[in-house]
Amino acid sequence: MFDSLSDRLGGVFDKLRGRGALKEQDVRDAMREVRIALLEADVALPVVRRFIDQVTEKAIGQSVLRSVTPGQQVVKIVNDAIIEMLGGDVTPELDLNAAPPVVIMMVGLQGSGKTTSTAKIAKLLKEKQGKKAMMASLDVNRPAAQEQLKVLGEQVGVATLPIIPGQQPTEIATRAMQAAKLQAVDVLLLDTAGRLHVDQQLMDEMKAVAEISNPRETLLVVDSLTGQDAVNVAQSFSGQVDLTGVVLTRMDGDARGGAALSMRAVTGKPIKFAGTGEKMEALEVFHPSRVANRILG
Ligand code: GDP
Repeated sequence: MFDSLSDRLGGVFDKLRGRGALKEQDVRDAMREVRIALLEADVALPVVRRFIDQVTEKAIGQSVLRSVTPGQQVVKIVNDAIIEMLGGDVTPELDLNAAPPVVIMMVGLQGSGKTTSTAKIAKLLKEKQGKKAMMASLDVNRPAAQEQLKVLGEQVGVATLPIIPGQQPTEIATRAMQAAKLQAVDVLLLDTAGRLHVDQQLMDEMKAVAEISNPRETLLVVDSLTGQDAVNVAQSFSGQVDLTGVVLTRMDGDARGGAALSMRAVTGKPIKFAGTGEKMEALEVFHPSRVANRILG
């Protein structure tokens, strides 16, 4: 097991106790440790570089407070910088300020946890916000994907659009909009098709669905365990659709937490939810400070 970053920084700065200001060479030594910790936490390399540059600049010349050691002070600077990079210590909410039915479009690769997250969010909207929700699966690629959403809908007590075999995603989206209007639904969640790899057909289909449904939220679902792949996926999607946020799944299996930092840096969008298990309750609003704690250890 590695020492935590906090301990290692303490080690770097032990010899410095009591000096007046953080010196450039000391900060650079400390940043070597931070860099290793971030890479171990699976933060993407370009993001690590940017982060280190920002923090180095901030730290050099800062006078050391009397009450803390230089190591503790650098840990605080790094902690604050992680939180700032994640958008500040606020929990971002869904933006549902539009005429109903407000559409939430879920996008992402197959297996990322899209369908599960769709049902989890529908449950949360129903139970925590008293919304009348409806879900529709536009996933005609994966066998039984539409059935899966239906089953989850029954589990969480949220209606799903009846399945008509053979319909294409845009047809389903059109039908879902009509049904949601007719049934005075507040929020319509569209679970779009995923594929194993990002491809143009997937992107075109997503854009066509967005055109029809005019989503207020477009949430990219990514698996936090897929590291650099997740970063590439985020890059591809954010170049093609106007994402409004990210759902990071499998945070229960990610002891390292670095994916959050990469996702935020690459998409520039807030992480709105963290999936923390397979159960329908296993969805948390995202807390930047918890991720900072995980990374700093
Ligand atoms: P989709 O293909 O993107 O729609 O993926 P699914 O929603 O079908 O999820 C794929 C698998 O991942 C399922 O077995 C889910 O139960 C599981 N899963 C989804 N989210 C999470 C999560 O946050 N934590 C864990 N441990 N499993 C998850």
